[in-house]
This record gives sequence, C-alpha cells and structure tokens, in this order.
Amino acid sequence: MANISRESNKLRAAPLDLPSSLRDVVEYRKSGLSLNHVVGCPLDCGYCVRHLFDNYDMKRPHLVMDDEEAVQALIGHWAFRSHITPIQIFNRATDPLLPRVKEHLHRTLELLDGYGLTNSVLVITRWHVEREDVERFERLSNLKLTVLVTWSGIDDRRIEPVDSTIAETSLATLAAGAHRTKRILYWRPVVAGLNDGDGLISRARELARLADATVFTGLFHREEIRA
Ligand code: SF4
Repeated sequence: MANISRESNKLRAAPLDLPSSLRDVVEYRKSGLSLNHVVGCPLDCGYCVRHLFDNYDMKRPHLVMDDEEAVQALIGHWAFRSHITPIQIFNRATDPLLPRVKEHLHRTLELLDGYGLTNSVLVITRWHVEREDVERFERLSNLKLTVLVTWSGIDDRRIEPVDSTIAETSLATLAAGAHRTKRILYWRPVVAGLNDGDGLISRARELARLADATVFTGLFHREEIRA
C-alpha cells in the first residue's frame, strides 16, 4: 500500500491522457448517477474495479475537475431529476474518505445540499470515518445521506490489504454520532472459503448492530479481477 501521509496537501490535476471513461465524471447507472471527479487510490484492494479501467497503477488520487464544475455536470446531466435521482459520490476510482479526497467529498455534498436538493446520496468507504466527518455530514440539511462502510474480514493481505478493524471503528464512530446520516454495514466481497466461516458470520452479526442495515455481496467476476 502506498504511503498516504507523504503526499502533498492538494490533489494534483489528472493527467491529460486519462482514459475518456474516467474523464467523463458523471456515470449513468441503472440505480442512479455516479459522480467521480477524483481518480486514483493507494489502498490496493486485489478486487478493485479499477483493474477494468486500466487505472489500478494510479496510486495517488488526482482531481479531474473542481467540485463546482463537477456538481454542475451532475445536475445538468440529462438523467438528473431534482429530489429524485439517487446519487453516488466517488464510488468508482477512489475512496471518498482518504485524506485530501474527503475535502472534495464534503465540499461536493455541501454544494448539492446548498441547492436545497433532497436526493438520496450514497457514500461507500473502507477508510477512516472520523468524528469530525460525522459532524460535517450531520450539518447537511437537505440531502438524504447514507454511508456504507465496506468490511470483509479477509486477512489475506494480497486480496485485502486494508485492515478490517478500520471499518469496524468507522462504523462505531458513525453509530455514536450520526442521527440523520444513515449507516450501512457493507459486507463485501463475500468469497466462498475465504470469509464465509462461522466466526466471521458471527462478527458480521455483531457489527450489524451498529448499523441501520446490512448489505452483502460477492466478487465482481471479470477476467482482470480473477487474475
Ligand atoms: S478502496 Fe476502492 S478504489 Fe481504492 S483500491 Fe480499494 S476498491 Fe479500489
């Protein structure tokens, strides 16, 4: 895993040769619109979807456009409906709670909230959710924010280099401070023989008590991820 603390304070601009699939920051999904104006991640999850975008080697997060421009691209998208369209932020090519990335997450949420939009927003993270983050989430007054905390319990570092206790602490921090912000235990990826034993099922059950709901899912089976 790259050394996160040695990176400078601001995100660099994304390189000009970034593939168009990543330069296009608003992605239409059947379940809503996904906004991804930060690309790159040092966390090295073996099953990362960035394998499919040829972006796995970009370990430092980069800014594709500023938050104001990204929000305009989102609300100007042909499929966007105020107060209705579900939104996901930074769920394709980075983790939204990484240092420096999270400033852009908070700013983007606050810009959308400032428009009085009440859309549902999903934020998915396996990184540290700190008390200050929860306090800032709680200050939103319009958006319906749900934070999904990804936890696998896998201890094979080749597949899951991020310690699962980080997610456990994040969930506890949310449970202690979140009222209007919903929290979900996102148990993924569940892989037969790797993290589906009785011990981890019991642990997931304990963690579920900290959450408003639990979601579980398997691997996204593509050749790149299998490799
Ligand atoms: S945190 Fe997300 S973007 Fe980063 S390596 Fe893991 S799966 Fe990929």
